[in-house]
Amino acid sequence: MSITGKKTGKEEKNSNTSKPSLNFIENIIVDDLKTNKYEGKVHTRFPPEPNGYLHIGHAKSICLNFGIAKKYNGLCNLRFDDTNPVTEEVEYVESIKEDIRWLGFDWEDREYYASDYFDQLYDFAIKLIKEGRAYIDDQPLEAISEQKTTPNQPGIESPFRNRPVEKNLDLFKRMKAGEFKEGARVLRAKIDMNSPNMHMRDPVIYRIRHASHHRTGDKWCIYPMYDFAHGQSDYFERITHSLCTLEFEVHRPLYDWLVIHLKENNYRPRQIEFARLNLSYTIMSKRKLLELVEEGYVNSWDDPRMPTISGLRRRGYTPESIRNFADKIGVAKRDNIIDVAILEHSIREDLNKKAPRVMAVLQPLKVVLTNYPEDKIEEVETINNPEDESMGTRKLPFSRELYIEHADFMETPPNKFFRLAPGREVRLKSAYIIKCEEVIKDDQGIIVELRCTYDPESKSGSGQSRKVKATLHWVSVPHAIDAEVRLYDRLFDHHDPAGQKDQNSNEFLNPNSLEILSNCKVEPSLKTAKSLEKFQFQRQGYFCVDPDTTEDHLVFNRTVPLRDTWEKIKNKY
Ligand code: ATP
Ligand code: MG
Repeated sequence: MSITGKKTGKEEKNSNTSKPSLNFIENIIVDDLKTNKYEGKVHTRFPPEPNGYLHIGHAKSICLNFGIAKKYNGLCNLRFDDTNPVTEEVEYVESIKEDIRWLGFDWEDREYYASDYFDQLYDFAIKLIKEGRAYIDDQPLEAISEQKTTPNQPGIESPFRNRPVEKNLDLFKRMKAGEFKEGARVLRAKIDMNSPNMHMRDPVIYRIRHASHHRTGDKWCIYPMYDFAHGQSDYFERITHSLCTLEFEVHRPLYDWLVIHLKENNYRPRQIEFARLNLSYTIMSKRKLLELVEEGYVNSWDDPRMPTISGLRRRGYTPESIRNFADKIGVAKRDNIIDVAILEHSIREDLNKKAPRVMAVLQPLKVVLTNYPEDKIEEVETINNPEDESMGTRKLPFSRELYIEHADFMETPPNKFFRLAPGREVRLKSAYIIKCEEVIKDDQGIIVELRCTYDPESKSGSGQSRKVKATLHWVSVPHAIDAEVRLYDRLFDHHDPAGQKDQNSNEFLNPNSLEILSNCKVEPSLKTAKSLEKFQFQRQGYFCVDPDTTEDHLVFNRTVPLRDTWEKIKNKY
């Protein structure tokens, strides 16, 4: 794997086809449509296992599966791959459905569960046993695994491999009836103990689990293995193109072997593998994400630092930005790591068009305008979004006492600092030019206030043309609303936290991934801001209202700072 991605989705798109706008999966589909392979149908599925919340990698798969169905007038099913009763929960099922809907996709009435097929799968297992293609093995899993040996050596046949069909049938039925303990026996497909593909060396297809299932309850105590359930579910649902990530490439011969032996008809789904999404500074396995939640490294699955869809939503990402990101990175056949800055660029691009600009001072410094009348309040007009005139203007209250950003003032400024300093002038956005006359400090010498004068002739929009080097955002003291602002940084400080040998990704957790500012001052129009509403805090970045907000406590999450590192990245694509 390379950090820049030696071969990006875009390159892949361009390199292997005469129709440069299609990716390699679309090329296969177009060919199948031409030859009428599936009677002109395209039917995909998104098959999550409900053992955690969806992450941005799943978003790629969702956009791909639902996107292809849409583009080729086909359908896409939602199928929960719920074959492991131990790790699966209804909470996850619900969150998965919410996240897919939020992303903008619709499976209509095609919501399926692998567990819906447990009866059919059981019948199929019986059929395989009867045909002499499956047997009960009484050995423990460790012995079974040892006998598979290595790809270069022949495997060792189980002493139970040639059990008579009748005995196998009897044992399998008794397994189902709950007569045996967990691990006492398994059902194995009888394929080829000498295959160079380890998945073909008599894989386990059923195991005993005395556990309640979130849908089938206690009806079953034997459960099909993933490989046994997946292809068959595709078959039962008449999926045409079964898109999965690269690690399943080596499972494909088994996938094909199983659907061939179902043999109810000639129809065969086709498995096609693509590269999973890896993002720099991010981990992407549900197991590892669960660990972060359970061990308290983050607050919840939807912690805005998480790469989960719910975390991104709470952070302020929009469905459009995620769909655009998926489009931009394309579909590749080789693993790579996508720069997280590309994801950040997608949300900047979307919010730049949509988010109203507002004034918010994160680290306030009080300014008193000594020549401004004590009781005067005036309203200044400001535009809501320079990118979109139709978003109109609003009025901001301006008064004698204002907050500006502490970092916008320096008592002894270095050469390139053009903002406020003693004796210097700056413009207050949409208002007046002010000049710093005096710095007030407390007993410890900390700056607590600036005394400034304003130039009454300099009002924005009044037609005068005096120019100053900097324009600052501000909020009027008597009108300001208190807010808490949560600043997020990357959760990991290593570009590939999951890819370091002998080091757990948790060793690379960024200790400064969350900074809470509790004394922020925002303009009064934000008083009525709704949960998840998005804004650009002028000169700072994009922020959204956190659901923790209550009537008297506003909380904002920083989605992404304004600074755009895209220029650097753009050259790579
Ligand atoms: P994880 O390893 O993160 O737990 P998974 O593959 O076990 O993921 P599933 O619920 O089985 O999770 O995944 C559902 C679908 O999403 C599968 O088709 C899988 O291939 C796809 N998928 C999972 N992770 C990624 C990823 N990082 N990029 C693209 N597709 C992914
Ligand atoms: Mg999986």
